[in-house]
Amino acid sequence: MRTTVQTPVTAVGETPMVPATEPKTWTFTNCLTGLPVTITCMPGCTVDHSHEIAEPQHPEDISCYTDGPETYLPVIGAACAGGPANVRTLGFRMAVDPFSSTVALRLPHLNLEVMEEHWLEGLDPDALATVIGQLDRQVSRLRVAHAQLTAARAEYVREAM
Ligand SMILES: [Zn+2]
Repeated sequence: MRTTVQTPVTAVGETPMVPATEPKTWTFTNCLTGLPVTITCMPGCTVDHSHEIAEPQHPEDISCYTDGPETYLPVIGAACAGGPANVRTLGFRMAVDPFSSTVALRLPHLNLEVMEEHWLEGLDPDALATVIGQLDRQVSRLRVAHAQLTAARAEYVREAM
């Protein structure tokens, strides 16, 4: 049985990820020490930290982030057993994990969701530039394929008439 596929939502040109707002400063209780810890959110953090303020937290569970706009493609495959499903594609989240055991994640980084729940994590600017370059080359190949497809279809229609 086929499922209905919705029109993909494209997010090109939407609001930038990091709004110009004052960073939030807040305090949570470290569940390991019982001591209060004050942190200042990453600029543009959109996380509601109220539950982290209300209950003692493991410091490594603290994360500030903001999500980029989303786009979906109707995909078929092993993860879509019931037929095509709209799958989030090339989503991204800018984050800071201020107490991460991976020190690099304590700085702003980007997590890229290649396809829903399949992530490239902890990208610094150089790594992100590498990924963007790779994707850009593939999009260029798709543009060539688009031109070839358009020509092939035109030829097919001409021969069919
Ligand atoms: Zn935050």
